[in-house]
Amino acid sequence: MGEGDDTTGDGVGYDNGGRTDGAARRDDAVRAAVEQGLLGPDTPILGLLDVTGIRESAAELRAAFDAVTAPGTPVLHAFAVKATPLVPVLRLLREEGLGAEVASPGELALARAAGVPPRLTVLDSPAKTPAELREALALGIAVNADNAQELARIDGLMRSAHSGSPIGIRVNPQVGGGSIGATSTATATSKFGVALRYEGAREWVVQAYRERPWLTRLHAHTGSQGIPLSLMAQGVAEVFALAEEINGRLGRPQIDTLDIGGGLPVNFGSDESTPTYAQYARLLSEAVPGLFDGRYGLVTEFGRSLLAKHGTVVARVEYAKKAGGRPVAVTHAGVQVAARTVYVPGSWPLRIAAYDAKGRPKEGPPVVQDVAGPACLAGDLLAEARALPLLEQGDYAAALDTGAYYFAHHYAYNSLARPGIHGFAPDASGEVVFATVREAQRLDEIVAESGGAHAGALTTLRAPDRR
Ligand SMILES: *Cc1c(COP(=O)(O)O)cnc(C)c1O
Repeated sequence: MGEGDDTTGDGVGYDNGGRTDGAARRDDAVRAAVEQGLLGPDTPILGLLDVTGIRESAAELRAAFDAVTAPGTPVLHAFAVKATPLVPVLRLLREEGLGAEVASPGELALARAAGVPPRLTVLDSPAKTPAELREALALGIAVNADNAQELARIDGLMRSAHSGSPIGIRVNPQVGGGSIGATSTATATSKFGVALRYEGAREWVVQAYRERPWLTRLHAHTGSQGIPLSLMAQGVAEVFALAEEINGRLGRPQIDTLDIGGGLPVNFGSDESTPTYAQYARLLSEAVPGLFDGRYGLVTEFGRSLLAKHGTVVARVEYAKKAGGRPVAVTHAGVQVAARTVYVPGSWPLRIAAYDAKGRPKEGPPVVQDVAGPACLAGDLLAEARALPLLEQGDYAAALDTGAYYFAHHYAYNSLARPGIHGFAPDASGEVVFATVREAQRLDEIVAESGGAHAGALTTLRAPDRR
C-alpha cells in the first residue's frame, strides 16, 4: 500500500485548461439534452455516453497493440463487462472489433444479447457454479479457472463432453498492491487465482499443465485503479516467465495464449486520457519483449480505461441552500449513481462541471460549495468543499468521467430510480443526436422489483400460538 500512482493522482484538479475534443462534445451534449427536453424539471437526472469518444478509445487500444505485436499475432481485446454492463455499449465495442470478458451469468447474458460471439468471449468469475462451467464449455467460450477445485470440476466436464473452449488458469503473481486496496488484485492474500509465491504453487501449476494438454492459456489481472504501470508490467512479466517455464519444462508450446487482464488506470483529475494504451503497450514491449514476438496469442481485458472518460451523469439542482455558512447544491445525483465516491470519497474523487439552466457551461468566480445528492444519508455528497461557479436552483451539476463503475452500477438506496442513459454523437450538420441506451426506471418497476407481487407474503407466516 501507499505506492501511489502519480498518473492517477489523489486529488482532483479543478483546472479545465487544455480543453479536449471530449470536453467540447460533452458541453454540446449537455446543452442539447436541455434544449431537446431530455433533461429538465421532470427528468432531473440522466447519464450520457459519448459514442465518438468510445470509438476513439477502442481504436487507440487496437492501434497500441498492433504497433508492438508481430504481424499475424492473434489479439483479442475483451472488454471487461463489469465496467459498463450495458448491452448497447457491448454492441458498439463489438462493432469496433472488441470482445467481452464476463464474470457472472448476468454478464454472459448481456454479452450474448449484444451479439458478442463465443470465440470473442472470456469467462473469469471467481465463483463459477458447475452449471455455469457446463454452459461455458458447451458454448465454446474461453474459461480461466480460478483455483484447483474449479479445475477439478472442469476435468469432470471435459471427460464427459468434448469442448472447443480454450481453457487457462488464473494466477496471482503477488507483485503487490496499489494505492486502493479494493482494486488491488495481486497482493499476497488476494482472493483471485492461484497465488504463485505460495510454497509448492509453481510446481502444482506446471504439473496441472503437464497432465492436461487442453490447458492452453495462462491468465493474470494484476489490478485496477491505483496500480502503478510499472507494477502492472511486472505482473505481466511474471506471467510470461511462468508460461516460458511451463512450455520449456513440458518440451512443447502448450500454452499458446497469454491473457494479461485489464487495469489501465483512469485519470480522474483532468480531461486528458492518461496514461494511454500506447504508453502501456510500449512499456510492456520494453519490459517483456518476448510477449509480442508472435509465439503467443494475446488477450486483454480492459474496462474502465475504455469507458470512464466517455460517461457523464448530469443532474438538476433542485434546491440551493446554505449550511454552516457553506453553499450546498441539492442535486438528483448522489449515492445511487456514484456509490464509490460517496462512500470512499478519498479514493474516488470526481470532477464536477457546473452548467446553467440552459445547459451552458456556468461562468462566475469559484465558490467553495458542497454538491449533494438526493438520498437521506448525511454523506450523500458528490463533492465536498469544491470550488466551482456558484450552483443555483435550476442549474445542472455534471459528474465527469463516470462512464465506468458509476451510473451503470445503480445502487437502490432510498428506492431512487435508475436514471435513463443516452448515447450521443453529432450529425452531419453538427447537431447533437441522442439514442436511448437504457430507459429510466419506472415506479411500477421499482414496486415489482421490491416484492410488489408478494405484498401479503409475510403476513401469511405466523408461528403457532404457544399459550
Ligand atoms: C475488473 C476486471 C478487469 C477490468 O479492470 P479495469 O480496471 O476496469 O480495466 C479485467 N479483468 C478482470 C479479471 C477483472 O476482474
